[in-house]
Amino acid sequence: MPTTAKGWGTDAPDQPLKRMTFERRDLRPNDVAIKITYAGICHSDLHTCRNDWGGTRYPVIPGHEIVGKVTAVGDEVTRHRVGETVAVGCMVDSCMECDQCLEGWEVFCRKGCVQTYNSKDYHDGTVSKGGYTDHIVVRDHFVCKVPDGMDESRVAPLLCAGITTYSPLRQYGVGPGTKMAVVGLGGLGHMAVKLGVAMGADVTMITTTPSKGQDARELGASDFIISTDAEQMKAAVTRFDFILNTIPVSHEIDGYLQLLGRSGRMVIVGALTPMPGFVGMNLIWWNRAVGGSAIGGIPETQEMLDFCAAKDIYPDIETIRMDQVNEAYERLLKNDVRYRFVIDMEQGV
Ligand code: NAP
Ligand code: ZN
Repeated sequence: MPTTAKGWGTDAPDQPLKRMTFERRDLRPNDVAIKITYAGICHSDLHTCRNDWGGTRYPVIPGHEIVGKVTAVGDEVTRHRVGETVAVGCMVDSCMECDQCLEGWEVFCRKGCVQTYNSKDYHDGTVSKGGYTDHIVVRDHFVCKVPDGMDESRVAPLLCAGITTYSPLRQYGVGPGTKMAVVGLGGLGHMAVKLGVAMGADVTMITTTPSKGQDARELGASDFIISTDAEQMKAAVTRFDFILNTIPVSHEIDGYLQLLGRSGRMVIVGALTPMPGFVGMNLIWWNRAVGGSAIGGIPETQEMLDFCAAKDIYPDIETIRMDQVNEAYERLLKNDVRYRFVIDMEQGV
């Protein structure tokens, strides 16, 4: 039987989020039902609610940093058991047959992966509804295990902010000896600092907010640069091997490109919209590269959770109630969260 779910979403780009009810599907044989205990607030949730990227299907119920307890499993599920603590990130389904899925890159599924919210389900055509809800039904492959002993209340942001930063660091071999910089100290950026340090890199934080300099050091960065200070930027030209750029809006990248040394690479994860052009010479001279990275696959997400459990890495969070979500969005826009909001669902949806 389908179940009635309670959640918070919005009907239009200029409307606040409000309480909504909707149906969650009956379990398919390979589905897992999860009672959600915590959900993180990613800047992508806000972008989607406000239709910043176009393509939002209203009403939208966001949330793709999800932790909870398994309450039921379909007949064919063997990997998960009722009562387990589990986590769900940005995807809930993919074809699982194409080359990308078979290689663990479900995010690039040739059929198009089904994202946790605002995506059409392959089978029934309904639009997926995310984690700002009391429960969710997800295909078993897309459900990760929260390692034993982890503090469940702080895990949620790892499912997007964690994997989106872990994946490019792994792809480009960040480790001991890497001079790495992170641009933008927000949800993604603060995880990038922690993960880069844990992988052995020497990490510098590049921020627009002078008061975050001390925070960057506490997160493990050896140095910080205020990006609006031309002298500081000039002094750092050619200093880095790898830059992870998490700025959430379109911006000029030349100033950051010049900070890369020989064969250095900047990976952009934040700005999805059209960007201004850059000067070709800034790539050609010093053999620099610029690229992007999208979330990460499911095997890598589990690897990231296991890595964080082993190294005792958690996001820095501010826990809120579901009915504080609109206030949280306004604060996120004002760059006023250190460094991720997590909604405690047990306090009511
Ligand atoms: P966030 O918490 O709002 O952090 C973004 C940080 O960027 C801010 O804290 C601020 O740091 C800096 N910033 C903000 N506006 C800026 C501006 N106009 N110019 C320069 N710096 C600015 O956001 P988030 O949740 O980390 O997400 C970051 C972006 O990644 C979002 O666009 C999100 O949609 C995207 N995202 C992408 C993926 C992917 O798969 N690639 C996955 C998840 C999220 P300072 O104060 O330090 O300057
Ligand atoms: Zn996200």
